[in-house]
Amino acid sequence: MLIYNLVVACFVRDTVYLWYSLLIFSSIMVYGWWGVDQALATSVFTDNTEVAVFAAIFLTVKQRFLEWYLNLEKPIASKVISVGYALGVVMMVMIAVSPPADTLAFLLWTCLAVLLIDLGAVAANELVTDGEWRTVALVYIGCVGTFAAFKMLAFFYAPERLLLASLLAWLLCLAALTVGMGLKMELGGVIERSWSQKYYKVRSQLEDMLRQNTRLRRESHTDGLTKIGNRAHFELSYRVEWDRAFRERLSIALLLVDIDHFKRINDRYGHVVGDECLVAVALAIRGCLHRASDRVMRYGGEEFVVILGGSSSEGVELIGDRIRAAVKSLEFPEGFRITVSVGGASIVPRADVTGQEFLEMVDQALYRAKNEGRDRLVMAGAVDQAWDNKPTGVLY
Ligand code: GH3
Ligand code: MG
Ligand code: MG
Repeated sequence: MLIYNLVVACFVRDTVYLWYSLLIFSSIMVYGWWGVDQALATSVFTDNTEVAVFAAIFLTVKQRFLEWYLNLEKPIASKVISVGYALGVVMMVMIAVSPPADTLAFLLWTCLAVLLIDLGAVAANELVTDGEWRTVALVYIGCVGTFAAFKMLAFFYAPERLLLASLLAWLLCLAALTVGMGLKMELGGVIERSWSQKYYKVRSQLEDMLRQNTRLRRESHTDGLTKIGNRAHFELSYRVEWDRAFRERLSIALLLVDIDHFKRINDRYGHVVGDECLVAVALAIRGCLHRASDRVMRYGGEEFVVILGGSSSEGVELIGDRIRAAVKSLEFPEGFRITVSVGGASIVPRADVTGQEFLEMVDQALYRAKNEGRDRLVMAGAVDQAWDNKPTGVLY
């Protein structure tokens, strides 16, 4: 049986078989030594010290086997069992250190007490989990219950045959447990449950990671002050929108909005007011955008960039001017007003113009708006219609 279980352990690679093999081995030691003890009743073994030591090892192994075999669902049940076995082991060690007068009876009763605690905890666990008795648990209770009953009967009615009765009962018990483990493997109940638990655990970890990833990505693309997209967000969106417009031969437009003389606001009213000003401008710009595809992002410092999809040059001009007017109409509690300069352009992307070149053109339009006196919108010419006739980088 030992060899059979070791072979099975190698094939199925399940720890329960290893513990089971160890259990068989430790029981061979207990019964073997006990047998030798009885055979040589007058020998040095009569104090049963070795049997107590082997019984202590046996109980420890049996507890580990039980944990793997039953996979108890209630932690309290496995705690009760652990405590029962730990007490049993302590008793065995005590017997080994200073054997009481009737060692054998003491040893037997301690083992029985541990088995009864173990049976009670297993039965309670089965009752309170989902009320359905698992086959493996029934086999276990049947085996160990029969073994305990056999031992008690032999002790009371035929004490001289106690060793033989115990050995026979234990062999029966082991055979039935081997069948129980076969059932456990074949039905796969416990294994399946433990795999599905592992699966759910991994899945929930993965979901957590995905959620965290989404949050981090959102945070890394959001401007902390104004809560609109930041420069990184712009660069990504601009690349995507540019490629899409190129593929679908649609127009794309950009507006660069820069607050005029913002440094003065900071110098005069402080950075806190400056920050509030930036938030108000971001909101005002957002309020001027009505299409879902239109987006405003903070390009840097006191400069904002707006991407408009599918807008004609006139449409861009209209929105650019609306933004300029909206910011100008803002009234700040400190009693000042601000203006913005806006550079804009729209284009149907072509192979001979890069997105970066187009952005530079819009930037130059903004530069011109600043030079021409601020508080105005300058369009970078109808580059989308007349690109053919104009060398790159020339503004209108
Ligand atoms: P111009 O009309 O030429 O654009 O003048 P300006 O003063 O707006 O431009 P300049 O580039 O000289 O100064 C920009 C200022 O914007 C300087 C900097 O302190 C301020 N600034 C940039 N980022 C922030 C910010 O996050 N909060 C605040 N309060 N100020 C900022
Ligand atoms: Mg400025
Ligand atoms: Mg600036």
